[in-house]
Amino acid sequence: MGDFDYETLLDRARKNIPDNISTRSRWRLPEPQILIEGSNTIFRNFNDVVSMMDRDENHVYQYILNDLGTSGSRDGPRARFKGRIPPKRIKKTIANYVNSYIKCTQCKSPDTAFVREDRTTLLKCQACGATRPVKL
Ligand SMILES: [Zn+2]
Repeated sequence: MGDFDYETLLDRARKNIPDNISTRSRWRLPEPQILIEGSNTIFRNFNDVVSMMDRDENHVYQYILNDLGTSGSRDGPRARFKGRIPPKRIKKTIANYVNSYIKCTQCKSPDTAFVREDRTTLLKCQACGATRPVKL
């Protein structure tokens, strides 16, 4: 996964958490399959990647569009972006999403979920219990 190493992230997370949660934590995002088609970029396995994230797919999709500064469309399991976007850039965008909306900043576990508290949305870690506000 280039400059984003999921395994390292998980190794660090596993040291801090009980076995049952640890087993669940061994997720690994599929390598994004990116291809350029004319003046568009196709993210062929968008659905596979998102389903491993356990997040709302529209949220992930909109985040990617904003981060890349482009528009696009969904096409079954694929996502299509306007412009010729280097795969490295898309991987970086996914890593940004993981860091912002999935990874616990305390213990680095990806076992987190959104919880609503008054008008704020918090990212709550299932492993260590830490919370932090997130903007959705
Ligand atoms: Zn944590």
